Amino acid sequence: MKSYAEWKQLSHDISFRDKAYINGRFQPSQRGQTFPSINPTNEALLANVASCDDADVDIAVANAKAVFESGVWSQMAPAKRKEIMLRWADLIEAHHDEFAILDTLDMGKSISEMVAVDVPDTIDCFRWTAESIDKVYGDIAPTNKDVLALITHEPVGVVAAITPWNYPLMMVSWKLAPAIAMGNSVILKPSEKAPLSALRLAELASEAGLPDGVLNVLPGFGHTAGKALALHMDVDVLAFTGSTRVAGMLMEYAGQSNLKKVWLEAGGKSPNIIFDDCDDIVKAARTSAAAIFSNQGEVCIACSRIYVQKGIKEAFLSALKEAAQAYRTGDPLDPETRMGPMVDAAQLNTVAHYIQSALDQGATLATGGLPDYTEGKGFYAKPTIITDADNSMTFVQEEIFGPVLAVCEFETEGEAIALANDSRYGLGAAIWTANLSRAHRVSRQLKSGMVWVNTWGEGDSTVPFGGVKASGNGRDKSIHSLEKYTSMKNVWIRI
Ligand code: NAD
Repeated sequence: MKSYAEWKQLSHDISFRDKAYINGRFQPSQRGQTFPSINPTNEALLANVASCDDADVDIAVANAKAVFESGVWSQMAPAKRKEIMLRWADLIEAHHDEFAILDTLDMGKSISEMVAVDVPDTIDCFRWTAESIDKVYGDIAPTNKDVLALITHEPVGVVAAITPWNYPLMMVSWKLAPAIAMGNSVILKPSEKAPLSALRLAELASEAGLPDGVLNVLPGFGHTAGKALALHMDVDVLAFTGSTRVAGMLMEYAGQSNLKKVWLEAGGKSPNIIFDDCDDIVKAARTSAAAIFSNQGEVCIACSRIYVQKGIKEAFLSALKEAAQAYRTGDPLDPETRMGPMVDAAQLNTVAHYIQSALDQGATLATGGLPDYTEGKGFYAKPTIITDADNSMTFVQEEIFGPVLAVCEFETEGEAIALANDSRYGLGAAIWTANLSRAHRVSRQLKSGMVWVNTWGEGDSTVPFGGVKASGNGRDKSIHSLEKYTSMKNVWIRI
């Protein structure tokens, strides 16, 4: 790992791509608009980035559609597509430090997390998906023998990917890798709060040999570029990661336009159940702290609701408070920093609002508390634990997307399951128990896309990622993600 001084030096030397990337070249937005990209650590301007809207969307979609129909990528042999995507992954790896710095500067994630998680996960996502392209087979249906019915998986056409800012590079890779691998053309609209790594990624795609127009990046706002994409009649698939509020709007836009397929990876309020038969309370406490404080709590699968069984509550809470102390805030370029700033002032205000509402509704502050903000010094929140919480409180029900942990108590297994399921979300859930039967019994009953037993946040390219209920309907990663970007076709041949 490089030292703080080395990362700081590298960050001074870095340059930013700040234009839209359409048809293999950078260009200003059609109307010449820009928006500022701010470093949340010191509130300094990083770049004025092209702000795209419907004018840019029309051009990019028309071009992406023409490229798709030309067959230059959509009809290319899978093995050849794989070669180009593997070269792309190699280029990302060659620029590993640059990508780590880009997201750290743009949204405040600690450099140590970028190096340990985001960049390697991104490289692996591209490599693993590339390797899977030439392993996707069609079927022959068991029909009468005088016909032959072929079932194939065809690329769909133009995919619009709309992504959030909390894992800028990684969330983009979870969409781009499978969509492009399957032969589609893609328009990516990264979050306006962290667009810089996506633009660099597109440039490297061209360097790797991806034909012009297969990947286009339109930075801009949701209500302009995002909405125009979602309403566009020539966009065939919408792949979204972001809030549940916007996810609902995208379903409406699809209904108002061409019934494009809409894949949603949305918000979460994941429960974390600590049973009194858990065999390592300290480990459970440390992992529970990581599950809410890593990436400043700006994590969709953050376990922001703890349900701890009455008998071990005090012991667990004391270990949890100790574990929270390790989350030192600081400059995210310092490898020792465990918590960087929140992405912007609005997110910091949201954190403050929910802490205040918890206290107003009768919960108790155990550690942390309201942020001490000084203008120009970054949007820092404190790792906050709030006890005496229950499901009737707003901050236990709503997604905060910050380092605020609610601790509630339960007595019986049935009660824990009911409390955990009493949420509009269903993304992740964690259980701590040494009892194997209980682990299976409880995981089966949790209404959640992912369950972690005696751990949290495990995942790799082989396993799908996604939720149920208001957490969405799609799955990123794994072989299953490819299905989102293909349509099934049958061809009947009379023999
Ligand atoms: P957001 O919904 O505000 O924005 C996400 C994207 O949608 C951005 O690119 C934004 O510009 C765009 N957008 C906003 N309004 C739009 C509109 N009207 N039309 C089209 N596009 C629009 O979410 P965010 O604040 O960027 O990200 C945080 C949210 O993302 C949290 O709720 C978090 O749980 C969720 N998230 C989910 C997953 C998952 O896999 N389920 C992963 C990461 C983040």
